[in-house]
Amino acid sequence: MVMTGPRAIGPQLLPLPEIGPDDALLQVEACGICGTDYEQFHGDIYAPYPFIPGHEPVGRIAAIGERAAARWGVRVGDRVAVEPAIPCLACPLCLAGRYTLCMGRRPMSAYGFIGLSVPPGLWGGYATHMYLAPNSLLHQVPDGVPAELAVLFNPLGAGFRWAVDLPGLRTGDTIVILGPGQRGLACVIAAREAGAGRIVVAGLSADEARLALARELGAHHTVDVEAEDPVQVVRRLTDGQGADVVVDVTAYAVVAVTQAIDMAARGGTVVLAGTKGRRPVPDFYSDRIVAKELTVKGALGVDYANYERAIRVIESGRYPLHRIHSHTLPIEEADTALRLLAREVPGQEALHIALVP
Ligand SMILES: [Zn+2]
Ligand SMILES: [Zn+2]
Repeated sequence: MVMTGPRAIGPQLLPLPEIGPDDALLQVEACGICGTDYEQFHGDIYAPYPFIPGHEPVGRIAAIGERAAARWGVRVGDRVAVEPAIPCLACPLCLAGRYTLCMGRRPMSAYGFIGLSVPPGLWGGYATHMYLAPNSLLHQVPDGVPAELAVLFNPLGAGFRWAVDLPGLRTGDTIVILGPGQRGLACVIAAREAGAGRIVVAGLSADEARLALARELGAHHTVDVEAEDPVQVVRRLTDGQGADVVVDVTAYAVVAVTQAIDMAARGGTVVLAGTKGRRPVPDFYSDRIVAKELTVKGALGVDYANYERAIRVIESGRYPLHRIHSHTLPIEEADTALRLLAREVPGQEALHIALVP
């Protein structure tokens, strides 16, 4: 499926590439979609039209070069999850282990973000096959997991990095998660795995079912921000102390940023992971960050260790992940899937969607 411009996506036939000693070909089983896919579809973020979207694929190795097989430790038929990033592994950030911030290839070196003009063109998961470039990062996925659940490695990996790893969430901590979408719910699972003492999730009135699911997954309290002031609720729940960690995974909601700063405890950490469509935050007072000595961190991607933690949780069967996964659609219906995810299809509610070839 090739995205040719904003809100334009359709099928095209492309030849399969020859595989050399250092690369491979993936037969895609499923590809997860997230808000980033929608932002490309909507034209809000980098989208090198025409290109094949899809940065959350799981599949089987269809062909692989000898050196690639030795380097990745996989062979034909093995099942793998592919990280979005294709790092250069040579720039200062890669060498420091921060490869998700790689500066090597501009404008973007990631699956789902490379145009058809760059050979072999098969750079996205909305396809039967995806090319695996030499610096790809792969994770083995056990055979028993259904493909549409296996692709949850991506949101769950984000949950571990954004809610636990980046803020240094400790056993017993209070964490507030703003936004009960697939990544917010993934944060609930990660926080529970890390032994959080109190997990609070905030959402809109329209999110009622998602907030109920958050409680089912382990959240202790949920807040409808249209009925109650979430800052007051968090203060009340914590005897006025505030939350040790606040994670903002809301899309486009600028008010969540000021709320996060206001509800964080003295010395607490705020992780900002939801993008706001390049809009500024009104009523932003940096003095509040100073006065409480807050740590504010931006979170964009996920790294190797956190994807591994996610795959272990999926494998364990400890959580009802099928409750987060709401739709499986054929890749030909990518247009519907993207609109469904953005609540543009009246009367239908989606949470996590997987596209399958
Ligand atoms: Zn994504
Ligand atoms: Zn690099």
